[in-house]
Amino acid sequence: MQFAELVAEYERLEATSKRLEMRQILVDLLRKVSAKELPALVYMMQGELRPEFEGVELGVADSLAARAVAQATGAPEKSVAESLRTTGDLGTTAGQLLPKRAARLDADPLRVHEVYEAFGRIATASGAGSQELKVRTLVELLARSTPSEAKYLVRFALGKLRLGVREMSIVDALSFAFADGSKEARAAVEAAYNRSSDLGLVAEHVAKDGVPGVNKIPIRVGRPIRPMLAERSPDLADALRRMEGKAALEYKYDGLRVQAHVPEQGPVQLFSRRLESISTQFPELVKELPAAVHRRPAIVEGECVPVDPETGELRPFQEVSRRRGRKYDLERMQEEVPVRLFLFDVLLDHGTPTVDEPFPTRRRLLESAVHGTERVHLATQKVVDSEADAEAFFEEAIAAGCEGVMVKSLAAGSTYRAGARGYWWIKYKREYTHALADSVDGVVVGAFYGHGRRGGRYGALLLAVYNPDEDRFESFCKVGSGFDDATLETLPAKFKPFEVPEKPESVLTELVPDVWLRPAVVMEVRGAELTLSPIHRAGVGKIRPDAGLALRFPRFTGRWRDDKDAETATTTAELISLYRSQVRQISSANAGEESA
Ligand code: AMP
Repeated sequence: MQFAELVAEYERLEATSKRLEMRQILVDLLRKVSAKELPALVYMMQGELRPEFEGVELGVADSLAARAVAQATGAPEKSVAESLRTTGDLGTTAGQLLPKRAARLDADPLRVHEVYEAFGRIATASGAGSQELKVRTLVELLARSTPSEAKYLVRFALGKLRLGVREMSIVDALSFAFADGSKEARAAVEAAYNRSSDLGLVAEHVAKDGVPGVNKIPIRVGRPIRPMLAERSPDLADALRRMEGKAALEYKYDGLRVQAHVPEQGPVQLFSRRLESISTQFPELVKELPAAVHRRPAIVEGECVPVDPETGELRPFQEVSRRRGRKYDLERMQEEVPVRLFLFDVLLDHGTPTVDEPFPTRRRLLESAVHGTERVHLATQKVVDSEADAEAFFEEAIAAGCEGVMVKSLAAGSTYRAGARGYWWIKYKREYTHALADSVDGVVVGAFYGHGRRGGRYGALLLAVYNPDEDRFESFCKVGSGFDDATLETLPAKFKPFEVPEKPESVLTELVPDVWLRPAVVMEVRGAELTLSPIHRAGVGKIRPDAGLALRFPRFTGRWRDDKDAETATTTAELISLYRSQVRQISSANAGEESA
């Protein structure tokens, strides 16, 4: 396929916010491209070269790309910089400067696979001369491109493609392009994605053999499985009722979720909840896991928590986050922030997938496959069938330094539901015992300039929850407290990459911030209570017509949820259930007062 054809579709995708139209564009594209180019197309659609978990980065810095634009267009670097100041986007600048060159007309049109391969060379270039090679490769591409092609080439090189195409839109489109688009076909494609986290691979299989093709994609060490997620309950009695009176309770450790892939031989790989590779940050776990997990190959999941090396007591979450994303001082950090990994699930045991086994079977397999070592342990668990026992276990978990308990179903249907949130796992945290609501992980969608002391800086942020049914972000509060001065100082720079000129289509709110932001950054907030509001649009119409939910007196907890992306933030449904549980708590407290 010619790259120009792809670029024309990029432009159409960017211009529409209608879901069906977007799907049709994707379906046509997927059908048009050759089998050879299909995975490349799918990765490039997401602005990537490989599935995200492989961590392949283009590594083209702004200055490098600007140099390439100058060389390819013949414009002096100064003019490139000047144009960039007005456009704010080097891609647009490249497109604008390019027509000034004359000698491009006889060039061969670019093909998708050529572009993909060239970017592959850019990504793998390293060592002496690699910068030059990157610039040269980019110049060669630009020299053969039209202004529109140049715009997207540059954006792609900088990792700023941002077409607004979500993974699930691609899943949808694949099921229409290569199967009958039925609910079953979509479920099969989604399931294959959930267990492989690789849309290029899924595309290749569904294009070749339809639904039977994707059903054959196996769980494999080295390919992370999308994590199963938990619902919440207002209290333990409610959680137990949902489990028909009997459930496995586990400590809910407050740390980083880790999926550990332990091959028969060779290095262990660790993935975060967002499926990024975090092996280099935890070398001691990589080293110790083969000793702990003795039925290999295996995939196990657990929570990595900071501990006091002297006493073995659990330490606050914030400490372990210092180790995440770190590139230097890895050895020193091992000493400074020692961790333990508490395993709570097994997804591949001795090479056999266990995701379709009910939870009690998986736990049994986990117990027999793992021998505790210094740093690797099993999550503490107890099967309970009374509220009193559940309460006692919860108190024990809190006393041990955990944030609460996970209540897990023992039913026949309690399989590992990759990528799904459901009542098979229920989280119940300490905060629920107070009248206040749980914390909320909100997506930042806008910013307000500060006044007075905060002049020239942001004084508040507009937050939204995610509504997966409508695929949109619904505002629920404007948060301006809980920021210290140092944090306030950094906000404009932190959000700069996400600034957009107008309200993103996916955002629903009646408030107009000074700066609109593309939904990406997630932060944790607490508040006094949830109330109904005419301005905020979270769950609008679900409780009362034309009113959404708003968080009163919101306050930043100081915790950026870097481990979450916009779609894994708190959902509208979760906010509604928090509101309902709060209503219930308030009314039962009132009832208590009346009877007292
Ligand atoms: P949350 O991040 O509040 O949605 O809570 C769910 C998270 O709790 C999971 O993603 C895990 O990282 C963590 N967690 C801690 N202990 C457990 C456990 N025993 N079972 C499952 N998840 C756990």
